[in-house]
This record gives sequence, C-alpha cells and structure tokens, in this order.
Amino acid sequence: MSLLCIGTLAYDTIETPTDRRERSLGGSATYFCVASASFAKPRLVGVVGTDFADEDRQLLIDKQVDVEGLEVAEGETFTWGGRYEADWNTRHTLFTNLNVFEHFDPKVPDSYKDSRFVFLANAHPAIQLKALLQVEKPEFVVADTMNLWIDIALDDLKALLQNIDGLILNDEEARMLTGEANLILAAKAVLTMGPKYVILKKGEHGAFLMSENVHFSLPAFPVTQVVDPTGAGDSFAGGFMGEIARAGNIEPGTLRRAMVAGTATASFCVQGFSLEDIGSRTDAQIEARIQQLLEIVTV
Ligand code: AMP
Repeated sequence: MSLLCIGTLAYDTIETPTDRRERSLGGSATYFCVASASFAKPRLVGVVGTDFADEDRQLLIDKQVDVEGLEVAEGETFTWGGRYEADWNTRHTLFTNLNVFEHFDPKVPDSYKDSRFVFLANAHPAIQLKALLQVEKPEFVVADTMNLWIDIALDDLKALLQNIDGLILNDEEARMLTGEANLILAAKAVLTMGPKYVILKKGEHGAFLMSENVHFSLPAFPVTQVVDPTGAGDSFAGGFMGEIARAGNIEPGTLRRAMVAGTATASFCVQGFSLEDIGSRTDAQIEARIQQLLEIVTV
C-alpha cells in the first residue's frame, strides 16, 4: 500500500568517540526511505541543492524509492553536524544549516496524493503540516520531531499534533515536550495533545508503543559494534511504517509486528557510518534479523 515520506536530505558531519566523517549522506527522509524500501515502495517529498551528488540520488533510485517529489533548488543541500559521547546516547548538535530547506515549499505530486500511509520525518513542523494537507485521504499519519523544533517552533508543532495519528520521539524529546520525567507519564501526556498513538524510543534500551488500547514494549536488538547511531530513529520509523504499509492496516497485531520490523531495521543502521550498512542489506537479511529478534523476546 502507498507510503509517502516528507523530510530532509542532508550532508552530515559526524564525530564519534573514535572517528569523524564529513559530508556523508544523511537526512531524515533519506534514512526513512532506504529503511522502508524493504517493506514498501516509498514516495519521497524533499529538496536538495545543486550540490547533491548523482550517486546519492542513484542510491535512492536503486532502492526503488519514488523520487518524483524530490525537488532540486538553487543553493546548497541541508547540512547538519553531530557529535556522540562515549555512551552513544548523548548527542550534541554541532551545527544545522537549513540552506535550501529554509524556503522549501513542499509540493506533493498529483501521483502521490492518494497515499494512504504518511510519515512526516523530522523537519520544520509547518513544512510537515503543509505537505500533509496536500494528501487527499491519508489513513494513518505518523510524525517525528526533534529538540530543535520543540525549542523554536512549538506552536507549529502543537498545530501539527492536532492533525496526525501517531508521534515518534525519543526519551529526551518526550521529556522536553511534556515536562514529565517519567516516560510512561510523558507518553500519556503526548496522548492528550492530539495523537492517538505514541512511540517512544529509548536508544539502546528499545522502544514502546502506547495508545488507549495497545501498550507494547521491545528491547533494542543487541548490536555489539555501534559505529554511528545517526539515522537510527528514522530507520526505525522506516521499518515501522514500511511494515504497516505492507500490511495495509493498523490492527494491534500489525502495530506489534511493525515495532519488531522497526527495531530490526534500525539495528543495521547503527552498524555503519551514514547509509553504508543499512543501504547494502537485502530483504532476506532484514527478515532474518526480525526472526532473531523474535527469538530473543519470545518466551
Ligand atoms: P536521527 O539520528 O534518526 O535523529 O536522524 C539524524 C538525521 O536527521 C541526520 O542525517 C540529519 O541530517 C537529520 N537532521 C538533523 N537535524 C535535523 C533537523 N533539525 N530537521 C530535520 N532533519 C534533521
């Protein structure tokens, strides 16, 4: 079933405790699309500058991502820099240069307007909402956000929350948005702000999904060699929404399987810099990891 994603395509500068990479391919929509491509054929809405490399565009096309909605604007592609501390869970943003994203006016192509499942990957909440309102009859809309937008665009974010079904956020963002230190209370507080579903990610400690009638919790897949956690959240969302789009419904069982798909998919992302690991995985390898994860959590 049709899956639409709007978000950023970026060149990232990443510093880990042991390594540093400049201008590696990143962006919330890039990770989401590559990750969800194992489950569905994602449709991408985003913008890049004239510096965006042909090989990076080709990577998306090779993954069967529909790039009709990828605009090329005069100027430079969005760039972001992040530094991880030794515990991998603490990340500092070093810089965010919106570049062509600053004046991005998202246009959902006519051929995408019938999309049933929509993921609003991390981006300015006003841009997320503007794109969403162009989709005719979305059935299940999930958004991601980030501390930057909670800080500088809270009113836009609150307006967005009235128009979506689910919100994905990490522990730090959940505390920041709700003021609740306890993550269960924070999730419940999000459910009073608009969305009917909240997915709360806790890094290496896994993730849980909460709604009025479903509460499902999963540990992370035990990865022994973390190389670069950038994009793990977007890859989780890719597996999660990809599985929902594949199933074509949001029954409680589908949501649980989607949590497993997201967790398994994200575990590949952290094993390499940029999209090096996750971009090279076959559907069979992802399925095998889903089965391994199920073995780990089943009694
Ligand atoms: P994640 O590690 O899943 O939170 O996603 C990291 C990706 O998000 C990086 O590749 C960045 O290029 C992108 N990113 C960082 N900051 C922002 C932002 N403020 N808005 C949209 N995308 C961002």
